[in-house]
Amino acid sequence: MSLPIPPWRIKGVEPVPAPTSEERVSALEKAQGNLFHLPSHAVTVDLLTDSGTGAMSQSQWAALMEGDESYAGSRSFHQLEKSVREIFGFHRILPAHQGRAAEEILFGTFGRKGGVVVSNHLFDTTTAHAHHVGMETKACVVQEGLWGGNFDLGLLENQIREGNVDLLVATVTCNSTGGLPVSLKNLRAVYEIARAHHIRLWVDMARIAENSYFQWKAGEGESPLACAKATCDLMDGGWMSAKKDGLVNMGGFIALRHGEHYEELAERGILSEGFPTYGGMSGRGMASLAVGLWEAMDERYLTHRIGEVRDLHDRLAEWDVPMVSPGGHAVFVDAGAWLPHLKPTDFPGQSLALALYLVAGIRSSEIGSLLAGRDLSGEQIDAHGEYTRLAIPRRTYTAGHRYFVSEAFRILAECRESIPPILLAKESPSLRHFQSTFERFLWTPSQFAKN
Ligand SMILES: *Cc1c(COP(=O)(O)O)cnc(C)c1O
Repeated sequence: MSLPIPPWRIKGVEPVPAPTSEERVSALEKAQGNLFHLPSHAVTVDLLTDSGTGAMSQSQWAALMEGDESYAGSRSFHQLEKSVREIFGFHRILPAHQGRAAEEILFGTFGRKGGVVVSNHLFDTTTAHAHHVGMETKACVVQEGLWGGNFDLGLLENQIREGNVDLLVATVTCNSTGGLPVSLKNLRAVYEIARAHHIRLWVDMARIAENSYFQWKAGEGESPLACAKATCDLMDGGWMSAKKDGLVNMGGFIALRHGEHYEELAERGILSEGFPTYGGMSGRGMASLAVGLWEAMDERYLTHRIGEVRDLHDRLAEWDVPMVSPGGHAVFVDAGAWLPHLKPTDFPGQSLALALYLVAGIRSSEIGSLLAGRDLSGEQIDAHGEYTRLAIPRRTYTAGHRYFVSEAFRILAECRESIPPILLAKESPSLRHFQSTFERFLWTPSQFAKN
């Protein structure tokens, strides 16, 4: 399918840095091989994350001017609550400054030592919050194919039979398996299982608009909006990192069907986030989110958005780059398969990310053994694959930028056998991808040395 025209044109622009190859080598040395430690001025195309990196629309900027900064009872809070109610059917909300703050309130309130959370796959901050309150986490994602985010229903039943399950979580789309979607059909089956066992079912809504696009295209509903609503109708509650499909740079919320447990959650939220009608967000932030939630559900917006992910995927496929099938927000390059001379403990996903940076100043991230880290006994956790993720910020980069990325991969395709392994210099104990450093990455793509 050809790429649809972007349903927006550009009104404000931001300069894109163009560090030379010497500057990139020196920036990478200073960052000690950790791309999270690069200053943004050393990055030409930033595909590190799609979180909080999107562009707001003129309507959102206009809404921002009308933000109501009242401490209590802000008009902007009520606008946000109205958007959430009309789009998702949840009647009460509790704002939070970002997704993990909502998780902190939820697990701090409902968490139970020895309890178990089962999901298709939890996001890493959600896992960390569950572990923090002494809960065990289990995943049962199918991983393969178009609906790679779906629950494996047999495995789910088994995990429930093992006992102690307090909570089921549907993460839509499933970030941990390439942003692949979860079907309504699958969620309905999960709902029946949750009901039969009297277990609460919650939704992590960070990318629910992108998920509903896939459901809509598969004929599961008459619009993305109808699919998002149908998804939420199955849920007891949800929470959202608004930095993704909220189309804002910071924000989040907890959403409750009718307000059950509102008092307990609000009580807890006041301690860490603030009074329940702002909870960590500014009035203007809530006002622009109230608009962004609607824009993210727009059929033309979503068709272009998912189209640009597929477009980058298809461009790289021309150079025979092995990838996971394209999901909602990122292209996952199978670095393990593309750099077969590297073992998982050589961190091929990170090697490829560094090579991509040196070639063209493109910043990506490793999703593999480095991110997976070690278990409590110090053993490397099996990562199920070694990927380099190219996350695509919303409404930010154009086809020209994707062409540039594809050119970098063309160059890498010619010299990929020479990309060396990565050696950890200092390994940080938790979330090690953020803080660890690496030995010097001695590699220059010869074809690119002139540039
Ligand atoms: C980003 C994200 C979170 C955490 O949200 P933050 O806003 O980064 O704190 C939780 N779940 C999913 C699926 C996410 O993508």
